[in-house]
Amino acid sequence: MGKPAQARLPAGVAERILDYTSEAVLVADANREICWVNRAFTTITGYTLDDVRGRQPTLFRSDHHDDAFYQAIYEKLMTTGSWCGEIWRRRKDGDVFPALLTVTRIVGDTPDDTFYVDFFTDMAAYKQHEQRVEFLVHHDVLTELPNRFLLMDRLAGALARARRKDNALAVLFVDIDNFKALNDRHGHAVGDAVLRAAAHRFLWCVREGDTVARLGGDEFVILLEELGSPDDAATIGESIRAAFAAPVHHNGVDLEMTISIGISHYPSDATEPDALIDRADASMYRAKRAGRNRVDRIIAGPYSR
Ligand code: GH3
Ligand code: MG
Repeated sequence: MGKPAQARLPAGVAERILDYTSEAVLVADANREICWVNRAFTTITGYTLDDVRGRQPTLFRSDHHDDAFYQAIYEKLMTTGSWCGEIWRRRKDGDVFPALLTVTRIVGDTPDDTFYVDFFTDMAAYKQHEQRVEFLVHHDVLTELPNRFLLMDRLAGALARARRKDNALAVLFVDIDNFKALNDRHGHAVGDAVLRAAAHRFLWCVREGDTVARLGGDEFVILLEELGSPDDAATIGESIRAAFAAPVHHNGVDLEMTISIGISHYPSDATEPDALIDRADASMYRAKRAGRNRVDRIIAGPYSR
């Protein structure tokens, strides 16, 4: 019995099939000069075959990688016949994008009968999605402020730094006054807009390295690091309270609102993250009980160390 006949695609069919894949395909000859690309390649990179014919794939290099990176790909390709990994490439318009790339070296009977084939997918949308998911694990969807998890992480880091440098830090617990009534009167969507506006006002009042977090509902925590004097936190607390003297404008409506703030200090009030938050919360409740729209602090004296 003879050898079974090897099935062959009719001439030109392979190219047509490759034109239907969503993966970019690029073929370079033995001199690594590009001789064919598929439709997805043009869609992803913006280059047509006429743009790239005879050029080398180095055309797509971005500044994300050094020479050693490309050298390692080359060596792997020459020794094992293929390389697969993530690489940043440049489109025709200059935009740089992450690609999942497989380069294969196909060797025929003679050295001239060698081809280098790139298969790659554009990972930019996927990466953006991944970054958004990663962001939302640590942030509040409504205000985009850090959430409780990130706050606790930042607080642990801030406490470690404060201990090392013998610095003071303060936790401000902020709760909007009578927010339920505002929600009931104007609706939940307006309540949401007010929460976003409040987040912006908090951010205006603090330094870049400070953390403003939303715990949930109308509760926020502000973490102030490297305080110069024991009165700094109360002064900043007052300026945050004063930032609500002007109403929040929303859809042509002026919304009057006030906030209550409680403060705890490290190291005088507590030295652990949960205890600092609890003390600031208790302080905030005192501000509520005292009539709202005020800043409360646990101690008035200098820091005890
Ligand atoms: P107090 O001065 O004692 O704080 O009174 P309050 O009405 O603000 O009471 P509380 O802080 O307990 O109420 C928070 C309200 O916030 C309860 C809930 O209806 C509302 N709320 C919680 N989460 C959201 C949200 O994501 N959006 C909106 N619009 N409202 C929310
Ligand atoms: Mg409230």
